[in-house]
Amino acid sequence: MNRLAQRIVRLIEATGPLSIADYMELCLLDPQDGYYTTRDPLGAKGDFVTAPEVSQMFGELVGAWLVMQWQAIGRPAPVTIAEIGPGRGTMMKDMIRTVGRLEPELKALASFALVEASPRLADVQRATLGNAGVSVGWYGSVDELPAKPLLVAGNEIFDALPFQQFVLADGRWQERSVGLDEQGSFRFVLGLASLPPDVLPPNLRNVDEGSILEIAPARARLMATLARHVAAHSGAAIFFDYGHLLPGLGDTFQAVRRHRFETVFDNPGEADLTSHVDFSALAAIARTAGLDVQLSTQAEFLLSAGLLERAGQLGASASDPVRERISGEVERLAGPDGMGDLFKVLSMRSQVSTG
Ligand code: SAH
Repeated sequence: MNRLAQRIVRLIEATGPLSIADYMELCLLDPQDGYYTTRDPLGAKGDFVTAPEVSQMFGELVGAWLVMQWQAIGRPAPVTIAEIGPGRGTMMKDMIRTVGRLEPELKALASFALVEASPRLADVQRATLGNAGVSVGWYGSVDELPAKPLLVAGNEIFDALPFQQFVLADGRWQERSVGLDEQGSFRFVLGLASLPPDVLPPNLRNVDEGSILEIAPARARLMATLARHVAAHSGAAIFFDYGHLLPGLGDTFQAVRRHRFETVFDNPGEADLTSHVDFSALAAIARTAGLDVQLSTQAEFLLSAGLLERAGQLGASASDPVRERISGEVERLAGPDGMGDLFKVLSMRSQVSTG
């Protein structure tokens, strides 16, 4: 058992089973032994590869989308261009270059902001953006973003935020928590808490015993904060993640290390822990705040944002091997065997007055 696992075992022995949300938060962000706080997990040599790390085209198309939104809402100034959970800073670098090419004025007047919980990854982002030609500010939370118009993007951030599971057992939705077996190893236990029946949507009233429901208050809070900000000060936001567009039941808690799945208890703090994002829940929050919201697959978004045209431009004067690499990147980002269908996109924008 590694050091973090031993600490979590002692914590459970002292205080009882932990909510999956608390287990996840310790594994990902513990200051000494957390996954994001102690390493750069991204890329071929790390644990997983994300869309901005697959190809520069991803950040470029997101940057171009933000430029279009800025134009559509009347080119507000001042304005903040932000990213939540920027990893290595690759997407921000590609967005800044594209904003500068399409709208030099926006690049010059915007403040650039990165919201990052890991000091270790903030250092990597500083190195990546050192010569991007703009000044960038770092924030620990979206609550600290300046009260100004906001253009914001995020890739694989919602899946990294804690969530909870409830299992229908003996007619009650009981929280599935992390406890210990007789040997002192982690196991799931029930009964720490249960959901009051009156908070359940009607479609959950007649489902099978053993069904698993996932809810994510931390994700809802992030979305509510951003949606209120954009509604109050104007702006737009776009988020990419794996998940589902319609509400659903089932266990999607997963651990990935060195490009392989393992159990969520194998190596606490050394594996990426995530679950699928419920886009319908996030969209409902943004609509309640009064924003225009669009949902789609990553393939639909990237193709309509001009992925094939951008690939054509980059390939036009390139050698055959480079052209082949670019078409491989298109497949990976938007193909059905790549990220195209599994990944979903939520975009939202403040309403444009037509008066
Ligand atoms: N967007 C990047 C990285 C995705 S990994 C990419 O696509 O390559 C998730 C990122 O979110 C990491 O940078 C991680 O440190 C950050 N993160 C995790 N929890 C966070 C939180 N609560 N607030 C802000 N950033 C967080």
